[in-house]
Amino acid sequence: MTAPSEIVLRGLGISSGIGWGPAVHSPWRGRMIFRRRLAPQEIESEVARFHRAVGIAREQLRVLRQRMEHALGKEHAYILDAHVLMLEDAGILGEIETLIRTSAVNAEWAVKLVTDRILAIYAEIKDDDLRERGSDIEDVANRLLRVLSGDRSTCALPEGAVLVSETLPPSLLGELDPQRIAGLILGTGGWTSHVAILARGLGIPAVSGLRGALAQIEDHALVLVDGTRGLVLVHPSPDTLQRYERQRQERERHWIRWQARAPLPTTTRDGVPITIRANIERLSELDEMRRCGARGIGLLRTEFLFLQAAPELPSEEMQLEAYRQAAEVAGREGVAIRTVDWDENQMAALGTLHALRDQQTELGSSEPWLPERNPALGLRAIRFSLRAPEVLTTQLRAIVRAAAFGNLRIVLPMITSLEEVEQVRRLLQITCRELRAEGIAVPDRLPVGVMIETPAAVWLADELAAAVDFLSLGTNDLIQYILAVDRDNDRVAQLYDPLHPAVLRALRHVVQAAERAGRPLEVCGEMAAHPLHALTLLGLGARILSMRPRAIPLIKDFVRACELTRVREVVGKALAASHRAEVRELLLRSLQELRLELPDEALLNGSASPIGEVS
Ligand code: PEP
Ligand code: MG
Repeated sequence: MTAPSEIVLRGLGISSGIGWGPAVHSPWRGRMIFRRRLAPQEIESEVARFHRAVGIAREQLRVLRQRMEHALGKEHAYILDAHVLMLEDAGILGEIETLIRTSAVNAEWAVKLVTDRILAIYAEIKDDDLRERGSDIEDVANRLLRVLSGDRSTCALPEGAVLVSETLPPSLLGELDPQRIAGLILGTGGWTSHVAILARGLGIPAVSGLRGALAQIEDHALVLVDGTRGLVLVHPSPDTLQRYERQRQERERHWIRWQARAPLPTTTRDGVPITIRANIERLSELDEMRRCGARGIGLLRTEFLFLQAAPELPSEEMQLEAYRQAAEVAGREGVAIRTVDWDENQMAALGTLHALRDQQTELGSSEPWLPERNPALGLRAIRFSLRAPEVLTTQLRAIVRAAAFGNLRIVLPMITSLEEVEQVRRLLQITCRELRAEGIAVPDRLPVGVMIETPAAVWLADELAAAVDFLSLGTNDLIQYILAVDRDNDRVAQLYDPLHPAVLRALRHVVQAAERAGRPLEVCGEMAAHPLHALTLLGLGARILSMRPRAIPLIKDFVRACELTRVREVVGKALAASHRAEVRELLLRSLQELRLELPDEALLNGSASPIGEVS
């Protein structure tokens, strides 16, 4: 038999690196189910656990159905009605419950036995359409098993697999075990989409934007993901694999060199100290942050807590414990804890809206809930928190209490007005007063900062800087809003340009506003993690950069090679340039002057084109 020939697919590299392995298409398949024998006293609680899982799965389907109806119309959403009906079918549920009781087995095993039996009947059916309905049963069973296991991921991946999926909610990627994933291939998603940030944070090579081409990747086919160049190779030849293996080894050598120097101080060649902090998405990154030589946490994204607690909301105690851990690891340099930055669609996808309803917030009570058509401009981040003050108060209480264990500060996402800051400050005051009344220690000082990530915040930067203790530049969102380019959309990725003259001028304005007010400015968007962009930020006057831990050793090495006086000169010229190409040309020349030995991945842009090209 001849070996299948190599197919090269071109997409958008969203997380650098090289990985290969068998392709596994999402959705979730092939879960291993184990039988556990129950002690007699365990049976009732197992039956209750099963019914709880049915309730959660039904709620997930209800939300999904609403979303589908909204996006595709009633005629498509009915598919999910069939799924809901199965979860209400007294016959099926009764059979599973009886099996748990009479055979004293775990709920997973009972679900498997009953659904396998039904599936076997469907498999015998001659009528094609009717036989197809068996896949609905499989889908529902998988959902139920997933809820029962507490695992919200879509895939049970074999070791070393490459996950192939049209889209992947970051919540699901966050739940997957990065050690098991060799690469990620997506139909859609831009460089600063949250799934891309997460993939980079986890060190998973990823390529997006392959859309229709995904069909050319059969399940289990050997695929290679070159996240640095945005390539996917299906059935790579032995020669190709050898070539990539050599590249992988070279990458490894660079990494070892950078990491060895990571604990050293970060001072430019002309003696200016630069502070490098870590962006943390999950507590499991704290170890890596330490190894990479970060000075504190410049951004603790707290969405992971909402993900872990879903479909409930994270409790005060759960949050307190997480913030305490982060505070202890970060030490003197402290942690900037960002209040939750999610939109309603993401909350609904996790089935969390029902918990908001229980709290009788204004949000949860607005029935029937319809998906946000434009979540980036909708009820997101601080807007969401201010409309669900119970959720915000719980988060503030946990932060204030955790401040007893370290040096914490609060940062507010997606601010567009001073009123929003004042509202949060009032709520914080009330929270501190209540905690004191409960006899709980409240720190004398808890700095509050704002993310500058909207054009409104740029133009209010002077007033905002005066009203808060520090500014945090969220370039990922800021670029999307200044350039009107959806950060999640790979089709406009070429337009998402951190070096666009309009972006540079906005950044300069914010840096100067912070200087005028004497407030520290931290940059925590992805720009900080890219050599050319980091160089630009330094030239604009930024002195604190925060990034995913994995990017820290490279950026530290890079900063040490920079001569700030020269960089400032070049960036000064770039600020006067009016074309994207002109800016890029100037900065690239300055990068080349440094004569650094940088691997390809450091020279790839945060868009589909290599750094030297402008489309
Ligand atoms: C940003 O927008 O730059 C940022 C750091 O926040 P996030 O990427 O989480 O939106
Ligand atoms: Mg943001």
